[in-house]
Amino acid sequence: MALNVIMLGPPGAGKGTQAERFARTRGIPKISTGDILREAVSMGTEIGKRAKAIMDRGELVSDEVMIGIVGERLARADAHSGFILDGFPRTVAQATALDRLMDGRDPLIVIDIVVPERELVRRLSTRMICSNCGHNAPVEDGSQTVCSLCGGRMVQRADDSQDVVLERLKIYRSNTKPLVDFYRARPTFRSINGAQPPDKVAADLVTAIAAAGSGRPATAGVDDVTLGGSR
Ligand SMILES: [Zn+2]
Repeated sequence: MALNVIMLGPPGAGKGTQAERFARTRGIPKISTGDILREAVSMGTEIGKRAKAIMDRGELVSDEVMIGIVGERLARADAHSGFILDGFPRTVAQATALDRLMDGRDPLIVIDIVVPERELVRRLSTRMICSNCGHNAPVEDGSQTVCSLCGGRMVQRADDSQDVVLERLKIYRSNTKPLVDFYRARPTFRSINGAQPPDKVAADLVTAIAAAGSGRPATAGVDDVTLGGSR
């Protein structure tokens, strides 16, 4: 069975990193909407031209155009034995359209990376800074302990943008809650606990995707992880 995976999860959950890692080990493409949008525009496909015209006017690309671009990408040969989508769908309308695109293909495996809000706030409002050269990076998944530039030790530094972080999470919650509700009842839906070390999250992701793909019923997951602090 093809591994047709979509990943849901808040900013700071380490979704992109985990998707990248899974895609690499399985030899399937990781498809992010930002990347394919840029690609369609540079390749000058029909839909790419439409997207470029919209962006040139400074407008947001509509669901319809986004779906068209995702559809073109998923139809390519390298996605036939599977793909992992990162950043799509973002709305129920996009999810409904994606279901139509999946007609005649293996079912979507939906992975929701759950991280309690207080942990997200900590990650998003803290930066790692190199004690040697001053290079800094966000604490997306807590994995950077060694500077990618000089190999020096990365230490945490508090950032003062908590309000910005809380606003980002609020927007995420209002957009994504309906999406999680849309998928939750499916036998191929799995939640994994993103509040763990990256290697453990990666291992849980592999297990969850295998279980979802085999049609085994969901065991007790992390549906009971409390989203502490949600208002
Ligand atoms: Zn450094």
